Amino acid sequence: MEQPTKKRPGGKGKGPQDPLNPMKQIDPKNIWKFFGNMGSSAVIFILLIVAYIIIATSSAGITKVSVSELAGSVVKGDVKEIVVSGNMLEATYQDGRKSESTKESDIALSQTLLNYGVTAEKLSLVNISVKEPGGFGYWFINLAPFLIPLVFIGFLVWYLTKQMRGAGTQAMTFGQSKARISFPGDKKQRVTFKDIAGAKEAKQELSEIVDFLKNPKKFIDIGAQIPKGVLLMGAPGTGKTLLARAVAGEAGVAFFSISGSEFVEMFVGVGASRVRDLFRMAKQAAPSIIFVDEIDAVGRARGAGTGGGNDEREQTLNQILVEMDGFEPNEKVIVMAATNRPDVLDPALLRPGRFDRRVTIDLPDRKDREEILAIHARKKQFGEDVNLKLVAERTPGFSGADLYSLMNEAAILAAREDRVKITQYDLIRAIEKVMLGPERKSHILSKKEKEVTAYHEAGHALVASVLEHADPVHKISIISRGRAAGYVLHLPIEDKRIQSRNEFFDDIAVSLGGYAAEKLIFGDVTTGPSNDLQVSTALARDMVTKYGMSDKIGVLALEGAGGRTLFGNGVNGEMSEKISADVDGEVQRIMSEAMGRTNMVFKDYRKVLDVIAKRLIETETIERAEFDAILVANGISLKEGVKLAE
Ligand code: ADP
Ligand code: ZN
Ligand code: MG
Repeated sequence: MEQPTKKRPGGKGKGPQDPLNPMKQIDPKNIWKFFGNMGSSAVIFILLIVAYIIIATSSAGITKVSVSELAGSVVKGDVKEIVVSGNMLEATYQDGRKSESTKESDIALSQTLLNYGVTAEKLSLVNISVKEPGGFGYWFINLAPFLIPLVFIGFLVWYLTKQMRGAGTQAMTFGQSKARISFPGDKKQRVTFKDIAGAKEAKQELSEIVDFLKNPKKFIDIGAQIPKGVLLMGAPGTGKTLLARAVAGEAGVAFFSISGSEFVEMFVGVGASRVRDLFRMAKQAAPSIIFVDEIDAVGRARGAGTGGGNDEREQTLNQILVEMDGFEPNEKVIVMAATNRPDVLDPALLRPGRFDRRVTIDLPDRKDREEILAIHARKKQFGEDVNLKLVAERTPGFSGADLYSLMNEAAILAAREDRVKITQYDLIRAIEKVMLGPERKSHILSKKEKEVTAYHEAGHALVASVLEHADPVHKISIISRGRAAGYVLHLPIEDKRIQSRNEFFDDIAVSLGGYAAEKLIFGDVTTGPSNDLQVSTALARDMVTKYGMSDKIGVLALEGAGGRTLFGNGVNGEMSEKISADVDGEVQRIMSEAMGRTNMVFKDYRKVLDVIAKRLIETETIERAEFDAILVANGISLKEGVKLAE
């Protein structure tokens, strides 16, 4: 029963196959290498054994006889020749047979034979030759029984130590920067401004940097001071990381990218040494770009905020500042950083000479959204009915990353239904999926629950349609999605950058519509509206403390961004007790006034509430066209800019 209009779960479409984010992939080559090592070792091992068997048995056909037998044969005069090599005796008989025997070591053959009772006379008839033991086969046969197990054990030891060393070197080298590097020659990973739609001002700002990296002499000759640091600021998924990579791609320079959180590890001092390393590498590769993504992880205002001062973070941040100050003017290294929380950054980072260039990237407007969709539609197959303009119209507040994942979801939907082309219907369904999470059709409501949910959502929708400043309704549904039991989809008529006090008042009233309807119809409330209440109370509080929209408190911002207290520093930097009590009173007043307005709507249009709820129980979903027709039929005029039926 949430109202998923403005706060959307930020669906970031980063799959491993994302062509624009190829940096985080696991290299399949490594896996092959691993199995390759294991495999080739096993093959060598097996080959050794086979070789041993072949060589050892190659003397087959030669009978083995004992020395005494051989001696007997010599006595009989059967033996023609004996070849001695080491302890091996190879005898050739008069009839051509051959035999092999082993004698005792240390004793000469003649002596051995004499010991066996061969007379010197008989012995002289035999042709005895001594061959120095040697040759591969000889050594192999003699040593293999020892060598093969040794080789095997050696391999095991080598393999295990290699594994240990792998772990060890990681511990030994944790000071080295973990930066991912992409070099200009790398065509596959190359991103250019063409891959980025919208963000025109940002691109314009950054093309100056590109210019400098391409042609530094021009700037240095005229004595221009080149910016050292560029800070990209914008909501998550607006393409900050992408833009930074595009600058490197356009300029054709090396790109060192690291995420702020990677500086911060268990060991104190690691972050600082990583920074030193990173800058050293970048200077060697100059001209180059160092990109610190999510810099707020290390760049938070020092000495303030949570955690009671994180030494590690401060040291890392200091090191970044030191390195940036240490640049020679013609170093040709530019530091870029990205954050979606510029408000929490340490002021030292923003000082001139550091990140003094600041580029803000806004959420895309309707035209930009259409262009972004077109970029991500490049490699996909579409049916004829697809109208990207309409999709762009329906997705205010979507970031580039959301649009990317919308396209992807649509493709998945089509593929799951075994179609080869993406239709408009797929795209529309994908919008809702990205906004609200997948439908949970299996979540079956009881009859009573269904009724309560229907009146709850009808309540939101009716208030939104009657109050002047609320956004018009696009769709109502009591099919649960994500965590919500049902939802009302309302979208602003046009993109909004700022919101007025009247809009806030009406938004709060719409949020309370669900609660009020449940109470009015059933005389009871459920836990359903708890999220509605939290959202609207927080909004009411912001109106009072941040935007100066309460007459009683007046034009004061009590809280800055990130919850910092701006006014009335009492104990622990909190608001004074009086102001604090006044704020609470004002929040309460705003909420109860909103509740009053909501109840007024229901008093005037009680019948319409029933009509909408009944229809919802019947069909579970009401689309925009049907809903507008219901409104008009019951004497509620449509809002300006809303046409009946699409
Ligand atoms: P951020 O760093 O601002 O959170 P990313 O640069 O990581 O956002 O963007 C995530 C993805 O969203 C990108 O890889 C890209 O696919 C898509 N995207 C975001 N903005 C744009 C844009 N202006 N044009 C095209 N694609 C975009
Ligand atoms: Zn609700
Ligand atoms: Mg990013």
